[in-house]
Amino acid sequence: MSKYLDPDLNSLDEYVPGKQPKLERIIKLNTNESPYPPSPSVFRAMARFDTEKLRLYCDPESYSLRSAIAEYHKKAPENVVVTSGSDDILNFIFKAYGKGGVLFPDITYGFYSIFADQNKVPYQTVPLDGDFKIRISDYEKDSSLVVIANPNAPTGLEIPVSDIEALAAYSENRVIAVDEAYIDFGRESALSLTEKYKNVIVVRTYSKSRALAGARLGYAIADRELIDDIKKLKNCTNPYNVSSLVQVLGEASLEDDDYFRNCCSRIISSREKLKAALSDLGYTVTDSKANFVFAKSPGVSGEKLAEALFQRGILVRHFAKDRISDYVRISIGSENDTEILIKTIGEIENEICGNK
Ligand SMILES: *Cc1c(COP(=O)(O)O)cnc(C)c1O
Repeated sequence: MSKYLDPDLNSLDEYVPGKQPKLERIIKLNTNESPYPPSPSVFRAMARFDTEKLRLYCDPESYSLRSAIAEYHKKAPENVVVTSGSDDILNFIFKAYGKGGVLFPDITYGFYSIFADQNKVPYQTVPLDGDFKIRISDYEKDSSLVVIANPNAPTGLEIPVSDIEALAAYSENRVIAVDEAYIDFGRESALSLTEKYKNVIVVRTYSKSRALAGARLGYAIADRELIDDIKKLKNCTNPYNVSSLVQVLGEASLEDDDYFRNCCSRIISSREKLKAALSDLGYTVTDSKANFVFAKSPGVSGEKLAEALFQRGILVRHFAKDRISDYVRISIGSENDTEILIKTIGEIENEICGNK
């Protein structure tokens, strides 16, 4: 860093993204991307896109895309804001509502503490219980914002919407943000709460279930007043943060719901297969409802397992963090990836521990 950088910024921790190796032959199961391509309707929209249009700024309101998202979720366009990836929205949420203190779990998406620090808002982490579950009553204390990923990352565990509702009802003087990056692999969305509760904001991404991580598109749904807050911050930062091309692709992705649902259900069945296979090998496996599995070997440390897999061409994620350092997080790949993974883990267990 230069000597000119604000010391407060210099001291910020940076989010460390999972590796994006250039290697062609690696099986990449470390950043929860989709193993399947975006919908054919996205390919068609891309082919039809008029390159000449890039000369002009995009629609800063993303009106057509927001209307399509609203229609998809049976809301109004006023209830939707879009940004460049959902990380942008989460950052705005910390900035907008965090001043009176933020609560989030001790084990969750690593970006939350970074957003808090970057926006200079105080935060407190709330420990998950011994089974990595969120105990909702622990959040019934003073704060101006609660952020919950549901399903949570990297545990994959989901809490019922009734728990989120209890939190929303507990105090109308704070905002409850629900990060639903993985909800399409889970069960119950909190979207139904956004009409009844003016303090609930649901954050979604195109990066995981919609196979558009590289396009960068996220959105939030909430009561109009919360959406207007986020729009204001977006307009104070970069009103053009969703390009005209991405606006078109985002809308196209919603057209082909059969394709979308089919991809999600294939990922869910591979996930269940992988959970069962790891359990059979003696692993501790959380009941993930996301597009990844979070698991602990009976004998091999998390770090060693991640390293052994990497040497065999499979990239997974390990977090050197208290309570979870024995675990690895494995994204769900294609059916073929899953088979190779299961076989390779079996071999590693045999070699390192002599387990049969
Ligand atoms: C991947 C992820 C996101 C967001 O990703 P974007 O690509 O910025 O939309 C948000 N929250 C969680 C918990 C995630 O895992």
